[in-house]
Amino acid sequence: ATPTAVMVATGVGANNGVLIKGGDALERAQKIKYIIFDKTGTLTQGKATVTTAKVFTGMDRGEFLRWVASAEASSEHPLAKAIVEYARHFHFFDEPSATEDGQNNSKESITSGWLLDASAFTALPGRGIKCFIDGKPVLVGNRKLMTENGITIPTHVETFVVELEESANTGILVAFDDNLIGVLGVADPLKRETAIVIEGLHKMGVKPVMVTGDNGRTARAVAQEVGIQDVRAEVLPAGKAEVIRSLQKDGSVVAMVGDGINDSPALAAADVGMAIGAGTDIAIEAADYVLMRNNLEDVITAIDLSRKTLSRIR
Ligand code: ADP
Ligand code: MG
Repeated sequence: ATPTAVMVATGVGANNGVLIKGGDALERAQKIKYIIFDKTGTLTQGKATVTTAKVFTGMDRGEFLRWVASAEASSEHPLAKAIVEYARHFHFFDEPSATEDGQNNSKESITSGWLLDASAFTALPGRGIKCFIDGKPVLVGNRKLMTENGITIPTHVETFVVELEESANTGILVAFDDNLIGVLGVADPLKRETAIVIEGLHKMGVKPVMVTGDNGRTARAVAQEVGIQDVRAEVLPAGKAEVIRSLQKDGSVVAMVGDGINDSPALAAADVGMAIGAGTDIAIEAADYVLMRNNLEDVITAIDLSRKTLSRIR
């Protein structure tokens, strides 16, 4: 492309909230064959909410939620934030003093130290977290976390988790003192425009691929709702860039759309990296395109812009 074409395209992009960092990326975008989407926060809103809290022992549900929230309180993961938020509300509405006198003493109730002390907190990427409460080990995470720590998943628990996953929820397992005691279901709604953007990409001859650390069943349920056939699930954070490189092997031009710290190596490895503007700074830095409006329709705008401006001047 001529410098003028690049300048024009960059200007049109900027007017539409698509920031283009250089002519090379603009040039490559017209030849995109695969476009890899991170699931959480890219295809979905990244606003996970707890839909189910099931206790399999005689433990009180409020106590169960207190333990789980105490264990997750130190985690930055969106799933952890959803769990703590849910437990906080549960305890707030459970607290008679908070509502009986009609006074708005919510601040006190919310921060009245309902969390227990957790020690030796460890985050295990792609798995969950581990810590100790009352000197006993607490594990919160997926199946891999449980099996790696020698926790058996009883059949009725497995059946329950499978049901959650088939309805696009992520099942989070909770073990206390080496016994599986409960399961949480967490759902993250799709962005409004996701399905229509995927349909548009198919029509443009671009193949959408989903990549996620989440389990296969949940990932496939979400993918089916939006029309993505190619799903790469249970990919550890370091593995996303590996997926890109494998698709590039036959010379295909591969784009990546992501928002998280997890996504930055993949955004850098891709021929065209597109970061969601509301994403983390590290992702934005690693990308060639920044979608400022946080709307996936701008993925199509970006490809269109490249195809149109570059073909016109040839
Ligand atoms: P992604 O961001 O692509 O969804 P992650 O690698 O962050 O994937 O997480 C993968 C899986 O690991 C999650 O779906 C969940 O099952 C588990 N996990 C990770 N962190 C936590 C946590 N703090 N609490 C519970 N589960 C977790
Ligand atoms: Mg993400």
